[in-house]
Amino acid sequence: MEQTLKGKVALVTGASKGIGAAIAKDLAAAGAAVIVNYAASITDAEKVVQAITANGGQALALQANVSNAGDVKKMFETAIDAFGKIDILVNNAGIYKFAPIESVTPDFYREQFDINVLGPVLTIQEALKYFPATGGNIVNISSSASENPMPSTSIYAASKAALDALSIALGRELGPRNIRVNYIAPGPTVTDGVKSQGLLGTEAEQFMVRSTPLGRLGQPEDIAAVVTFLVSDAGKWITADRIKASGGLQ
Ligand code: NDP
Repeated sequence: MEQTLKGKVALVTGASKGIGAAIAKDLAAAGAAVIVNYAASITDAEKVVQAITANGGQALALQANVSNAGDVKKMFETAIDAFGKIDILVNNAGIYKFAPIESVTPDFYREQFDINVLGPVLTIQEALKYFPATGGNIVNISSSASENPMPSTSIYAASKAALDALSIALGRELGPRNIRVNYIAPGPTVTDGVKSQGLLGTEAEQFMVRSTPLGRLGQPEDIAAVVTFLVSDAGKWITADRIKASGGLQ
């Protein structure tokens, strides 16, 4: 891969598995030094670091629960000690839980909003302290569900719609400082998280494939390539915008 991000430092939240792991590897293959954030899966995070370094790249695994302000502050301080700056922040860490509205509890609501919305607010606040004066790049991983929610996804979809609005508002707020903020809306993508929901091999999976013009579920690498494009110079005229990466699924 062309080293379009040589000299850049990227922090990817939730990069121990799934879409985040693919993003970390793709950014590293493009030349960025990468902070591989995780919440609990240290072994998985270390495997991502090993894959990157085996490929000649630079990476460091750092634990932080993105919804905990103290954790996030400490993670950025450690990242700065290691790499000296941050140029790119990818807010990928997120959880998805589905339930009919009658079963939704305040805790169910708060957990998803804390990780999916407060998390990016906290990481963006920290990143702004360290982005170079010349600018920075933020990509938030939303979901096709934010504009096309299915039954039983109300709280998750609402949290991602909040992330969309946050991205647009901050793209406009931070544009004058040459800080670009974009968000990607993946469709159903084969990850550990989706596997643990028990969706694969069911009628629900067949329905999702039938609803996708390109005729398959997404792979983490499909999403990662869009992140690398957005944060590279090729994406320099794009901000406050949404890119759907869903094989045409609405
Ligand atoms: P996975 O469940 O496979 O992986 C989730 C990642 O997020 C893990 O690395 C996990 O770390 C991390 N994480 C979870 N909670 C926290 C937290 N509080 N702080 C820091 N890290 C955390 O997820 P996916 O790859 O499937 O999804 C990634 C993103 O993409 C999410 O935002 C999701 O909403 C979005 N998305 C996914 C789609 C899909 O079909 N897969 C479709 C559309 C959007 P650890 O392992 O240490 O817990």
